[in-house]
Amino acid sequence: MDKNFDTTDCYMIEGKLALPYTYFAGRVGSTFITTIRDRHKIMGVKCNACNKVFVPPRQTCERCLEDIRDNWVELGNTGEVVNFTVVRYDDKHLPRKAPFVMAMIQLDGADTPMVHILEGIDPERITIGLKVQAVFAAKTTNTILDIDHFEPV
Ligand SMILES: [Zn+2]
Repeated sequence: MDKNFDTTDCYMIEGKLALPYTYFAGRVGSTFITTIRDRHKIMGVKCNACNKVFVPPRQTCERCLEDIRDNWVELGNTGEVVNFTVVRYDDKHLPRKAPFVMAMIQLDGADTPMVHILEGIDPERITIGLKVQAVFAAKTTNTILDIDHFEPV
């Protein structure tokens, strides 16, 4: 509560609002997730106009606005760290208990990075360009966490 806000004559109830909802990942997002879940393959989409490969996939090339939703390309499960941070606070919406590392990982053959959990290495030893590989979850959650995490190759 803002201490500068005069609440002298106000009846206040502090609380949080729960807002149930259903999220639809869309056709492109759904194919991305179900291919990870069912085949342990990470797919991107390629723009035939500029040759960029996008992961996570999207319907439209952000550079040339071409419709690229059907131009699927299969990528390997390896890539490299292009940036990272150490998450040092706990929140019930985060996928791990702090501290843990979130990294931007550019898969081999992709032109854009994806954000995911990096494990199996001390944060002090992580370097930009570190080669990593996807580790798939033993049990599906029907989310991007069907890739459980990435770890050094
Ligand atoms: Zn393009």
